[in-house]
Amino acid sequence: MRISNFFIQTLREDPIGAQIISHKLMLRAGMICNVHHGVYTWLPLGLRVLQKIEKIIIEEQNRIGCSQVLMPTTQPASLWEKSGRYDGYGMEMLRIKDRHGRELIYGPTHEEIATDMAARFIKSYRQLPVIFYQIGWKFRDEIRPRFGVMRGREFLMKDGYSFDVDVAGALNSYQKVFFSYLRIFRRLGLRAVPVRANTGAIGGNLSHEFHIMAEVGESELFYDKAFDEIDIENVSFDEVERIYTAADEKHDASACEVPGDRLVTARGVEVGHVFYFGDKYSKAMNFAVTGCDGQPFFPQMGSYGIGVSRLVAAIIEASHDEHGIVWPEAVSPFSVVIITAKNDDAKVSQIAEELYERLLGSGVDVLLDDRAERVGSKFSDMDLIGITSQIVVGTSALAGTLEWKDRKTGERSLLSFDEVVEKAVGRA
Ligand code: ATP
Ligand code: MG
Repeated sequence: MRISNFFIQTLREDPIGAQIISHKLMLRAGMICNVHHGVYTWLPLGLRVLQKIEKIIIEEQNRIGCSQVLMPTTQPASLWEKSGRYDGYGMEMLRIKDRHGRELIYGPTHEEIATDMAARFIKSYRQLPVIFYQIGWKFRDEIRPRFGVMRGREFLMKDGYSFDVDVAGALNSYQKVFFSYLRIFRRLGLRAVPVRANTGAIGGNLSHEFHIMAEVGESELFYDKAFDEIDIENVSFDEVERIYTAADEKHDASACEVPGDRLVTARGVEVGHVFYFGDKYSKAMNFAVTGCDGQPFFPQMGSYGIGVSRLVAAIIEASHDEHGIVWPEAVSPFSVVIITAKNDDAKVSQIAEELYERLLGSGVDVLLDDRAERVGSKFSDMDLIGITSQIVVGTSALAGTLEWKDRKTGERSLLSFDEVVEKAVGRA
């Protein structure tokens, strides 16, 4: 992408009203723009990050055999009356009437739609287990939307719903998603800590929240350092569960058995939540399936959420410096940026163009910053935006030397044209 063809709009100063660093940086980098209270438009740069996160989630969910669907944002109130949640859900639910006077809602979550969908197609135990998921917009009329997309009213969630024959099957689905979540957060460059949680409005028996550590987090986290040392590819669910983790009121300092030198305390942002709730919804909504004995039974269910739009802010909270955002490689809006540092020199510009074409041709997600601006302000824009790797093409390019700068460490190395190509292609 050429920056001249890409909408990009950065701000030098911190915008008024933004309190936390991720909100400030998202506005300054031109990732989002506020539309109304707690609701945002995702600008091209922000959308790229959102889509990179989505891609990782999709890959990891498909890997464990989940099937992606896309459910609507509006839902009929009748399904919520059927599940028994319509009256109880409260002020967070946006209730709408259509032109025929029918009651609709803008979905804050999709257990009802998913159960209704499954009930239309699943008639026999042979069709189970199944896990459906989607990435879709939710609306919750939060009492206090704040911190930008960290707590919005309309926000993007990955939500999933599992259906199983029995409790053992449901716990197996739960555990599969649990590990899938740990992998997703790790691929995003985050360390997420799962903590036992209350089940709240979703209801049910077993639940974990996934938190990532950041000072602005709304929960206080406590966990045994042993958690930092586990290898999620080679550990059982029970072993992970045995390692002490807790949030807020679940932690009792006087009863905690973790020795003080092993107990880590931090603030956490909730980025994911998994629930097992048995036949709560299948039963209420009369979703029965024929078992192997010919008798009907209600499938065992779980539901699983990741705050996709919140994650963008959470990643920035976890990864920034005084110059701006520092994207983990996997979600950088572009993989590399080529910065021409001498626009008035046609030969230098030509080398930058050639490099750009080579990288594009090799499938590298590359941005070319060929703006005729002061080079200092181009550098500070690119540091603010936080693209993982910067390639500077200046006068030394005439003698065959380009500069590669690592955004995170600030480390610079001088490389030849071919070495730069090799390194960038290696990252793609
Ligand atoms: P919170 O406690 O932060 O209000 P929640 O427990 O109500 O969240 P869940 O129903 O568990 O939320 O939703 C699944 C995920 O969706 C959460 O883990 C969170 O990452 C994300 N999420 C929930 N509410 C919001 C919001 N208002 N803005 C952005 N993301 C949200
Ligand atoms: Mg939650």
